[in-house]
Amino acid sequence: MQVLIAEDDRASRRLLEKAVASLGYEVISVDDGLAAWNVLRQNDVRLVIADWEMPNMNGLSLCRRIRAGVLPRYVFVILLTSKTSREDIIEGLEAGADDYLTKPFNRAELSARLRTGLRVVELELELQAKNEILEDLNTRLERMALTDPLMEVGNRRGLYDTLDRLHGPTDNSDCGYSLIMVDVDHFKFYNDTYGHAAGDSALKNVSSAIKRCLRSNDGVFRYGGEEIVVYLPSADIDAASEVANRLCKAVSELGIPHTSSSTQVLTISCGVASRPRHSNEKQSWEDILSLADGALYEAKTAGRNRVAVA
Ligand SMILES: [Mg+2]
Repeated sequence: MQVLIAEDDRASRRLLEKAVASLGYEVISVDDGLAAWNVLRQNDVRLVIADWEMPNMNGLSLCRRIRAGVLPRYVFVILLTSKTSREDIIEGLEAGADDYLTKPFNRAELSARLRTGLRVVELELELQAKNEILEDLNTRLERMALTDPLMEVGNRRGLYDTLDRLHGPTDNSDCGYSLIMVDVDHFKFYNDTYGHAAGDSALKNVSSAIKRCLRSNDGVFRYGGEEIVVYLPSADIDAASEVANRLCKAVSELGIPHTSSSTQVLTISCGVASRPRHSNEKQSWEDILSLADGALYEAKTAGRNRVAVA
């Protein structure tokens, strides 16, 4: 562990350097407060012994600067002083010193005070490492909470979060988007015929095929059992229905056998709805979603494996 010594008196500095080094610490030493501050800004030094009276920046000002919060880590400061009055010591502690050492220093006392500092620094390092682990876990949990593990797309909460965030006020010219509500045709029959494991695997293949048809900034979300919602930012109704037709084609081309289907393969139906740019209507995203759902119903009643537009 490195210890920064800031002391203008040459003899006293030499004594300190020797004593600190003999206790097993690596020593960096400077002869004024400003030089000490420059070392702290550029190096990951966490233990400081600073003299009170120094040119350029005294020990108290150095303490205050260390505590001002610019440094990304905790620095343990021992103030070195020939002042022994209670008021002086309080002033030093209030400036942000963690501890103090009176001159001439006693080696055993120096050793004990440095050990205290080391303990504090090590605790802080440990805490920092634990915080990093927690932050990482939080990010993963957040992602998990918004993801569907089977389809590896967003879940319903992820959809709601996205729409809450991106729906925007009606006078925003960039908030136009389209939604495609997708449903796998006769999926209950598929599960009944081929079993749930095959059903899961079919859903996975369908969602992969859908993802392959989309741009990287489009959103895919599992809405329910075999229902998927596709979010297309800044796509108008024509562009969106074109995408929906591509989705239908891509899924039927997977050629997943399905005897209850008129085409003998697994297919999807799509309902498309748009929120136009410069929309003056007071539509909520729930309204758009419900329009897409209505269109999906039309696609189903019109014979499935097709696209209907709201
Ligand atoms: Mg001095």
